[in-house]
Amino acid sequence: MGNKKHISEKFQLQKKSLHSVAEYVSGIRAGNRTILSEALTLLESTNPEHEPLAQEILTACMPFSGNSLRVGITGVPGVGKSTFIEKFGLQAIDRGYKPAVLAIDPSSSRSHGSILGDKTRMDLLSRNEAAFIRPTPTSGSLGGVARRTRECIYLCEAAGFDLILVETVGVGQSETQVSEMVDFFLLLMLAGAGDELQGVKRGIMELAQMVFINKADGDNAAKAKAARAEYARALHMFPGNEDGWTARTGHGSALSGEGMDEVWEAILSYRNQVTVNGYLTENRKNQAAKWLADSVEELLFRKLKARPDQEEAWHNMEKAVADGRLSAIKAAEQLIQKI
Ligand code: GDP
Repeated sequence: MGNKKHISEKFQLQKKSLHSVAEYVSGIRAGNRTILSEALTLLESTNPEHEPLAQEILTACMPFSGNSLRVGITGVPGVGKSTFIEKFGLQAIDRGYKPAVLAIDPSSSRSHGSILGDKTRMDLLSRNEAAFIRPTPTSGSLGGVARRTRECIYLCEAAGFDLILVETVGVGQSETQVSEMVDFFLLLMLAGAGDELQGVKRGIMELAQMVFINKADGDNAAKAKAARAEYARALHMFPGNEDGWTARTGHGSALSGEGMDEVWEAILSYRNQVTVNGYLTENRKNQAAKWLADSVEELLFRKLKARPDQEEAWHNMEKAVADGRLSAIKAAEQLIQKI
């Protein structure tokens, strides 16, 4: 399976023929979407041969990154994420932004058939010249965040996109990961019957700067309003965050666009507030530190796994831990000592 993936990635890239680092960087800086897409494919590639080139491109682009508003958007499948992002992205263009969307591609995670039939997600937005949409397969990554989402954000910024929308499926772990790479995190919810807070992990709500009850239209409008009030009460009980922000609530319809002004208002005042109080810079610094820590972890793990005797050593340690002869930390120490 992994091997097959390598081959197909290689094939894809070879077909388009690889450019030099300088060509990639100048193409990206000029906002060339084909080159940007190709660089993102290189970056996401699990083929080790692609890594040096991808990392050089990334490093060269880093000084041009950072000038965007990074917004994470999450919610369970069906809540209306892609409908919301399409509408929001089009509004962003009207407001003078150049949005890039790092979107989930649910079709690629199950066999190869699309679960949505022929419906193209974010069709209008994807046909708009000012926008860039990058669908990422959810397969092979935890809960729908791509392996290199953070790095993809930097490349999109270097290409001149100043609003980055990162979509994630609301299942748990991916929210934490995405919240570590965005400035503002928006949680989309539905008004349900009975206990409104059922099924929403408290942890996810704590990460959100705003909870928006979607599909507040038709018969659902009154229920959505009530749900919003309930979320507002719940959010007020959370302890304050370092950003000095009290999470907001909203309700509306991604289909009609109603209620989305409130989301804009929240995002823009959040940005203003954290720019003034210094949290934006501080938070991004902390996120970069986390990026480094994650990368060290990843590299160590890969180095360990690349050792010729790793399988046996690993197996022995697994056995030692299972038999209670060693603690997992002790066993890990012994494995790591070998590199
Ligand atoms: P996703 O899986 O979270 O990306 O959800 P989609 O955006 O694909 O939406 C799932 C379904 O809900 C689609 O049939 C949408 O047309 C519908 N939908 C999305 N937003 C709204 C809304 O605000 N109101 C109503 N009535 N339907 C919506």
